[in-house]
Amino acid sequence: DKRVGVLALQGAFREHAAMLERLGARVTEVRLPADLAGLGGLVIPGGESTTIGKLLVDFDLIEPIRAFAASGGAVWGTCAGAILLAQDIQGVPPQFGFQPSLALMATRVRRNAFGRQVDSFEVPLNVAGLNAPFPAVFIRAPVIEAVPDEAEVLARHDGQVVLVRQGRLLASSFHPELTRDARLHELFLNLVA
Ligand code: GLN
Repeated sequence: DKRVGVLALQGAFREHAAMLERLGARVTEVRLPADLAGLGGLVIPGGESTTIGKLLVDFDLIEPIRAFAASGGAVWGTCAGAILLAQDIQGVPPQFGFQPSLALMATRVRRNAFGRQVDSFEVPLNVAGLNAPFPAVFIRAPVIEAVPDEAEVLARHDGQVVLVRQGRLLASSFHPELTRDARLHELFLNLVA
């Protein structure tokens, strides 16, 4: 069995865990550095990126997760998680103060980039490698504005990058754990060694 973790500090971690278990993975809720031991992959869920970032600092998880990725662990960030993977985070309200990041991908993301009127929507998204569109749920979603050469863009919505893979790292602007479609969780498990 593949052993994967779901960062369980805040946000939609239960839904990710349920989906991964449905696919036969053994899932650990990660709250402390020691919880990473023995895992092959880690999901950083959606939620609120400033809150999760501050909790990552409080729980001393930034360096351990960076080391986990450096030693070959697969990491998937969804929505707020994709923000936390980025080296450059734009659109943080100044009153939120310092925005911690894992900075594992040389991406630039912009928070809440799909506008105020449409905070939330679902679209059939064409994803490279999938033979039918994926029902993508966007909730105050970020856009991936800049992507490094070594990364591969797997999907765009309205011309904007919303799904990127770089080696064993995956970042999605949307929430695959809030659908019944497990294909992206399957793709992630395939990145787990
Ligand atoms: N807007 C949130 C943030 O910037 C992300 C929303 C989400 O994860 N659904 O953290």
